[in-house]
Amino acid sequence: MGERKEPQRLWEPEAEKRKTKRRRILVIGGGASGLVAAIAAARNGAKVTVLEKNTQVGKKLLATGNGKCNLTNRDQRLSHYHCGEPDFPGKAFEAFGYEETLAFFKELGIYPKDRNGYLYPYSQQAQAVADILRMEAEGQRVKLACNTEILGMEKRQGRFFVETPGWTYEGEALILACGSRASSFGSGDGYAYAGSFGHRICPVLPALVQLRGGKDWPRRLSGIRLDAVVSLYGDGRLLGRNTGEVQLTDYGLSGIPVFQVSGYASCALENGQRVEAQLAFLPEFSDSEKRDMLQSLVKHGGGKPLAACLAGLFPRKLIPVLLERAGMEKGLPARDMTKWQMEGLFKEISHFCVPVTGTSGFAQAQVCKGGVDVSQVEPGTMESRLVRRLYFAGELLDVDGDCGGYNLQWAWTSGYLAGQAAAGEVKPEGVETP
Ligand SMILES: Cc1cc2nc3c(=O)[nH]c(=O)nc-3n(C[C@H](O)[C@H](O)[C@H](O)COP(=O)(O)OP(=O)(O)OC[C@H]3O[C@@H](n4cnc5c(N)ncnc54)[C@H](O)[C@@H]3O)c2cc1C
Repeated sequence: MGERKEPQRLWEPEAEKRKTKRRRILVIGGGASGLVAAIAAARNGAKVTVLEKNTQVGKKLLATGNGKCNLTNRDQRLSHYHCGEPDFPGKAFEAFGYEETLAFFKELGIYPKDRNGYLYPYSQQAQAVADILRMEAEGQRVKLACNTEILGMEKRQGRFFVETPGWTYEGEALILACGSRASSFGSGDGYAYAGSFGHRICPVLPALVQLRGGKDWPRRLSGIRLDAVVSLYGDGRLLGRNTGEVQLTDYGLSGIPVFQVSGYASCALENGQRVEAQLAFLPEFSDSEKRDMLQSLVKHGGGKPLAACLAGLFPRKLIPVLLERAGMEKGLPARDMTKWQMEGLFKEISHFCVPVTGTSGFAQAQVCKGGVDVSQVEPGTMESRLVRRLYFAGELLDVDGDCGGYNLQWAWTSGYLAGQAAAGEVKPEGVETP
């Protein structure tokens, strides 16, 4: 009898010892970066609790990439990332970049589907990404405390305390991964949390968002989609340019190329600049080719109304607006278009100016510019330079990417690095602020 019990007695104290040695890590926010941080920390032996204010973790992931989740992008040029310290994202990618991200997801059974360099899960279902990350976290025994309201947090005697209505959570490390103010999912709470630890917050502005403006024409053009080069100017200086399908709406401009330049518009408007978007239609053609096309209309259009002659090039609703802005009657016979009028029409086709009065704001934005100032954060670990064992991940940091999988890539990278580092060896605490 006594012999049968012996192995249990010997084993239990060992297990207990191992259990007590496991570092406790608290992650605030169970979104893209928080889930990956939790997984990385748990795989490295930590005991992890994710505190999520929503009813479930990964809820926002379901909305990404129109429900398909654009995980990352094959083109990882650093120009696709925007940050107060331009070198910061690159240093982080050196530690855990695109290749490591693909390997991480493949190991979980998420194989990429490459659509012109834009990478999605092979199933093209964002739900799969959210489910698999949640299951992996649960499999690693991460505690997912959803519906959790945070009342406060502080660091005392080398430990972090996070107060919620029913419990005070305690940990040796704290990872703030609660996202930005963008979209209906964004709380923006993370800025105040980071600020309470003495961190500087760079001005937070909406990005990847629609632009408002256009005076009288928007309602008449609403619903039109057409290819264009979008050039964004602030006080007459070119700030950004992108090409693709633009959507003309009843409030102004939308579509991927508009999103791509919208962050520049947000900053310029914030600085009180006069902001203008210029659309160059027929982007496949050079200026001289466009002029040749108009000359050909005069030559071959004869007595046909100019508006009818342009119907093969532009959506029907756009033509009267182009002609009006160029100072022409839509019934004007093509052959009667003067050289001066032709130049006016060319200008509208190549430099269609839209004064920008604002953006659609945080609720409509996909991401935010600004956030925790990265000069106070270690790029290889995401650890605070002010408070030891405090880490940041995801959009809360002053890093935002272009549309096309770059923001999730940043969430995976910063989340993994923060989780891995938080679970790592603890160096003796030195003097720190606050
Ligand atoms: C509609 C839409 C589509 C998008 N599509 C793409 C795409 O296809 N590809 C791409 O790269 N990027 C996309 N993005 C951007 C991308 O989703 C984000 O950049 C990314 O999710 C940021 O990850 P995060 O972990 O920092 O924040 P989030 O994913 O926002 O996670 C933050 C989490 O913290 C929780 N939280 C917030 N405050 C608190 C609090 N006080 N207490 C506890 N929990 C809290 C939130 O509920 C949330 O779960 C899209 C964004 C939107 C809005």
